[in-house]
Amino acid sequence: MSQNKPLLEIRNLKKYFVAQKSFLGNNHSFVKAVDDVSFNINEGETLGLVGESGCGKTTTGRTIIKLYEPTAGEIIFDGKDIAKLNSKEIMPYRRKMQMIFQDPYASLDARMTVGDIIGEAIDIHKLMGKKESKERVKYLLSKVGLNSEHANRYPHEFSGGQRQRIGIARALAVEPKFIVCDEPISALDVSIQAQVVNMLEDLQSDLGLTYLFIAHDLSMVKHISTKIGVMYLGKMVELSPSNELYKKPLHPYTQALLSAIPVPDPDAAEKNKRIMLEGETPSPINPPPGCRFKGRCRYAKPICEESEPELKDLGGDHCVACHLY
Ligand code: SF4
Repeated sequence: MSQNKPLLEIRNLKKYFVAQKSFLGNNHSFVKAVDDVSFNINEGETLGLVGESGCGKTTTGRTIIKLYEPTAGEIIFDGKDIAKLNSKEIMPYRRKMQMIFQDPYASLDARMTVGDIIGEAIDIHKLMGKKESKERVKYLLSKVGLNSEHANRYPHEFSGGQRQRIGIARALAVEPKFIVCDEPISALDVSIQAQVVNMLEDLQSDLGLTYLFIAHDLSMVKHISTKIGVMYLGKMVELSPSNELYKKPLHPYTQALLSAIPVPDPDAAEKNKRIMLEGETPSPINPPPGCRFKGRCRYAKPICEESEPELKDLGGDHCVACHLY
């Protein structure tokens, strides 16, 4: 249940990767994968983070849990800025922040048994002895809808949905407070997707977890998210309580993403015509001035060419970065 207290405060986070090194070493070109992004996630809540591939959403998740070192900005976790902590100092926090990966096939070591995969982090963090660790593995398997005999089997003996359950049990092994769910249902059959989302919701309310739930479209985050952030080319372009965003999307990019969700009712579908985005996403290497969406925006005006819109709160925590508002 939400405590209405931020567990995570992200302030002006940047993650740049060197794209090309200059000869003299002082004029590199950078991929600005995450470029000055700020948001909070309250304890026990879920922020859904969406956008097309390459928008920076996965890099944001990986930078927050320090799989990547941030280029600049603050990552305040449970009141402490962890952005600049070194590899030793980060260890107690690393246990509290886990990740569920997109690909349940690639993310599990095929040579290890399921029991060893889930128990590995317990051993690394020296949380308990061998016997208790085995008991905990059994408990975690039951928590994700598998049974204790599964501990002795290997990942290839499971379906995609079961493997994702194993990945979730592994993330839970060290009793995290915060989990980055990086497109955890994108690689699964549609029939399995809802089961995994429901299970993540149940685990959240049972264990008081806080999630950053990354997805490439808005249909996947609708039910699980308390708030939604929409990213475009390294920038947060809209950030809003979930219900409000679906009722009243403000940014032209969010409107296009929402219009792409299939509507089962033919009358409603007729009213909600799909907005087709034209033009190419510009390169994230040294992006041009002005609004990064201008080449694909049907409302673009002269100011959009020169001035980059700031993310502004229009009231009720609904923030948008667009010169129309
Ligand atoms: Fe479109 Fe201009 Fe708004 Fe960018 S700032 S989304 S180009 S109207």
